[in-house]
Amino acid sequence: MSERTAAERREELVSLYHQVGACRKCPLGSLRTNPVFGMGNADADLMFVGEAPGAEEDRQALPFVGRAGKLLDELLGEIGMERRRDAWVCNVLKCRPPGNRDPQPDEIESCRPYLERQIQLIEPRVICTLGNFATKLLTGSPTGITRVRGRPQEREVAGVSVLLYPLFHPAAALRTPAVLQQLRDDFSGIPELLEQERAAAQPPELAAAAAAAALPAEPPQLDLLG
Ligand code: SF4
Repeated sequence: MSERTAAERREELVSLYHQVGACRKCPLGSLRTNPVFGMGNADADLMFVGEAPGAEEDRQALPFVGRAGKLLDELLGEIGMERRRDAWVCNVLKCRPPGNRDPQPDEIESCRPYLERQIQLIEPRVICTLGNFATKLLTGSPTGITRVRGRPQEREVAGVSVLLYPLFHPAAALRTPAVLQQLRDDFSGIPELLEQERAAAQPPELAAAAAAAALPAEPPQLDLLG
């Protein structure tokens, strides 16, 4: 974790928000209605990174506010979480590509520093990459989402050690019931991954005390004789 306080990190995040608001580094900056910076808890251990804003996101300046966003909230609710309280939600691109076309490589490269700075400031322990674009960008691998979904990967992203957890994009789950079931199954693994990462980040003496507290008073007896 960085030496900066939560207040300092939030202040830098606000400054980054204003930089994105003024950004014209790629042509999308002139085409958008609003930039979509991200939303949620700036101190969250969990981050979701999608692809790019859609029409509704562009209108409201908020990520995941359409049908896919509703599904994201529903899946979070099923694991006892709420996006504003428990997660930071953003996209690879901060501006909407016209007609919801795929992000172009030069757009991703131009926008990437904003995402990387968000990761440095929020310092999540687990990042769920939603769909192919976020997954390929943050894993640094061309392997598609179908092959890597649901498999956590330890990675260093922008100098921050995180557990990447690739997931299908909720928009794909809305189109295909089988994908929705797989996404739901993968979501159910999020709480355990968070616990695991929080435990691993504890100082060794605290981790040892927590492990000792979790041990039963007496070792369980193995019933070998039937
Ligand atoms: S998509 Fe990113 S790089 Fe392009 S104008 Fe928007 S904020 Fe800037």
